[in-house]
Amino acid sequence: MSTATAIEKAGVVGAGGSGFPTHVKAAGRADTMIANGAECEPLLRSDEAMMKAAPERVLRGLALMRDSLGASRAVIALKRENVEAGDALTATLDRFPGVELELLDDVYPAGDEYLLVYELTGRVIPEGGIPLDIGVVVNNVTTLANVASAVEGRPVTRRLISVQGAVKSPATFEVPIGVSIGELVAAAGGATVENPAVIVGGPMMGRLADQLSEPVTKTVGGIIVLPSEHPLITSRVSTEAHVLRVARAACCQCMACTELCPRALLGHELAPHRTVRAIQYSTLEIDHPHITSAYLCCECGMCELFACPLGIQPRRILADLKAELSRRGIKNPHTRTQLGPDDVREYRQIPSKRLVQRLGLSDYDGQAPVEDWTSEVRQVVLLMSQHVGKPACPAVEVGQRVLEGDVVGEIQPGCMGARVHASIAGKVTSVTPAEIIIESESRQGR
Ligand code: SF4
Ligand code: SF4
Repeated sequence: MSTATAIEKAGVVGAGGSGFPTHVKAAGRADTMIANGAECEPLLRSDEAMMKAAPERVLRGLALMRDSLGASRAVIALKRENVEAGDALTATLDRFPGVELELLDDVYPAGDEYLLVYELTGRVIPEGGIPLDIGVVVNNVTTLANVASAVEGRPVTRRLISVQGAVKSPATFEVPIGVSIGELVAAAGGATVENPAVIVGGPMMGRLADQLSEPVTKTVGGIIVLPSEHPLITSRVSTEAHVLRVARAACCQCMACTELCPRALLGHELAPHRTVRAIQYSTLEIDHPHITSAYLCCECGMCELFACPLGIQPRRILADLKAELSRRGIKNPHTRTQLGPDDVREYRQIPSKRLVQRLGLSDYDGQAPVEDWTSEVRQVVLLMSQHVGKPACPAVEVGQRVLEGDVVGEIQPGCMGARVHASIAGKVTSVTPAEIIIESESRQGR
């Protein structure tokens, strides 16, 4: 069986948040394969934990992907400050001839694919493009550990998730996919504030959880608990109308958002200050370049959470515009290929520590050691869409008994997607096109 087929059968998707089906990448051709261990979002620790706990699996996954792609170069990149993870990888590296290790400065967003590819290869991904356009494939380190397991016949049923912020005992747990966010918060000793809110993912790019019963998926590397009145929470709950009103009233066109935009600094034609100005003029057509350039935004949040001195939210404005453009069927017209970074780029990198201070997270920026998951898992909720592409089709019926690793969701014929597997043994109690619920029969702690 080819590596790509084994990956497809095991349901491996981009674990860093993208959810892109990994077998599609593995079936391509590239000259360079990059393992992304940069984990640049403040407070997230699960990739670091994976590199420390299983360096051999990560590097084997990297070598397998390199060979599948026919690549001549394989490199793993992590932040210089992750000394223990770097040591663990270095001690394992001699078992993987030809694999390089690169240490990155601790800046945000070092783990953005476009920046990572530029730092490691000197090539700039075209506007609206992907790494493969310039002969590169990038996978997150947890994804690569899953690739190594897939080739040994083990599907994705669990993952490491760090629980940080206003909790009693911040920690990283290996949990079955489909446990709830509330169970994770409880496992970390519970919230230490009266009105907690939870960000799923990092503080820069993560989203607010709707409710604590929400299940975790293959792409969730961390959750962050904060008081509801924290600016990172209040900015996420403000309405679109409020965001636009503030931008129209307050933007002074200082350009700080554009000067610190990582994509603009790579040479992409993105200028958030122009987009903010554009929305001040209702006469502008939606296909004006200052509006369609929203397609080039990766929603890293640098413009609104660090750069803007006036609390304006360019990232939010661009994200809403992107959604509107897509609804109206307007495609990305920005596709320049011959790009070069700005001369001042290296002087405009933002150290993670400064970012943490600006975000008001200094009190929470500690370690999240790996702890055993001792909570009893009564049920898991497995979403059929945990990935890019079409949702999986339920492949089980109510009442059916399953073992951990059994296929419960299949890829739709002829479509891009990913399989879903049972993450615990038990009985299927609910099946809908959106999710499958499995209840544990043993009620044993896991
Ligand atoms: S979120 Fe802001 S800083 Fe980040 S890419 Fe988009 S416009 Fe640039
Ligand atoms: S940083 Fe803020 S005030 Fe300055 S141009 Fe950008 S949105 Fe306007």
